[in-house]
Amino acid sequence: MIRMRDLPQGPTLEQAGAVLTIDLGAIRGNYRALRDRLDCATCSAVVKADGYGLGAAEVASALRTEGCKVFFVAHAAEGISLRQTLGGGPEIYVLNGVHPGAEDDCATAGLTAVANSTAQLAAWRAAAQRRAQRLSVAVQVDSGMSRLGMAPVEIENIDRTAFEGLDLKLVMSHLACADEPANPANEMQREAFDALRRKLPPAPASLVNSSGIFLGGAFHHDLARPGAALYGVNPTPGERNPMLQVVRLEAKVIQTRDLAAGIGVGYGYSFRTEMPLRAATIALGYADGWPRRASAAAWYGGKKLPFAGRVSMDSIVLDVSALAPDELQPGDLVELIGSRQTVDDLAMLSGTIGYEILTGLGRRFHRRYEGS
Ligand SMILES: *Cc1c(COP(=O)(O)O)cnc(C)c1O
Repeated sequence: MIRMRDLPQGPTLEQAGAVLTIDLGAIRGNYRALRDRLDCATCSAVVKADGYGLGAAEVASALRTEGCKVFFVAHAAEGISLRQTLGGGPEIYVLNGVHPGAEDDCATAGLTAVANSTAQLAAWRAAAQRRAQRLSVAVQVDSGMSRLGMAPVEIENIDRTAFEGLDLKLVMSHLACADEPANPANEMQREAFDALRRKLPPAPASLVNSSGIFLGGAFHHDLARPGAALYGVNPTPGERNPMLQVVRLEAKVIQTRDLAAGIGVGYGYSFRTEMPLRAATIALGYADGWPRRASAAAWYGGKKLPFAGRVSMDSIVLDVSALAPDELQPGDLVELIGSRQTVDDLAMLSGTIGYEILTGLGRRFHRRYEGS
């Protein structure tokens, strides 16, 4: 378990311009909800990119308490640091596989390499022989996404000796269009996956990410690999989000001012006051991962405070005329991400996906973890 003082809380509350609150209880709730959708399959957790920006150590420790025993990261370095956090026991898969030269570090940390090519598989097998140690491996097959994994012709030609000294723990693949349930690509990939894995030695199978879980039982196989849905991103775009919100982002008021009618605000004067208004400048900008093109609003005491003018690197001006004159003071926190304006809403406003918003959230925030 991680101790409070080990938490990477970033700058102190007093020094930071903004506060990111991460609800570990909600992440655990989301894990339970996803697990409940699976009949026989095991639910793992994808904690790559530092737990989608929310802190892999904190997220994985919370999920470990919830009973999660299988974790996925993208990079060897992420796996090595997660092993230090979790200790022995949980299985940690490295999705990108092991880069040439990193085999010994990964083997020492007890990581399971995902072999995406016969070359990666051969290097992992050579490491097992060199170390005189059986190593765990997963094979990723390319069932149609053309991103990572062994091509059908590689699978055809794979020689059974390729697995000597290795324990094949998982055969996996990844869906390209899981967030579009009506897309025929899903069924085609499922069929391709089922055909390809039969050509490999028998092993548990895994195909689905968060959205894939919602495609139904035929897609679940033995192990599901949700990431985004754990963190509150909607796995069923266009439909009501079945997940709990996990993050709250609040920024501090730096100063307030009264503006006369006809005044330009911010870079390029892209906003001009039509009538007198009260403005507040807050300590958050695009350097914190707020998309510059997302002209949104902040919230305070249930009132909506629209952005006035462009997002700067470290600050944003708000129109706070909806509040009483002295309601907002320097140091007060206004909400930028929460139940009123979610990560997905922000993604929509800026032409991206919730994943990119989450992983882009900056390192200058004071971080608070709620629950455990
Ligand atoms: C990132 C990733 C996942 C998790 O995907 P989500 O859409 O975040 O649930 C699962 N599998 C693989 C191979 C991935 O790269």
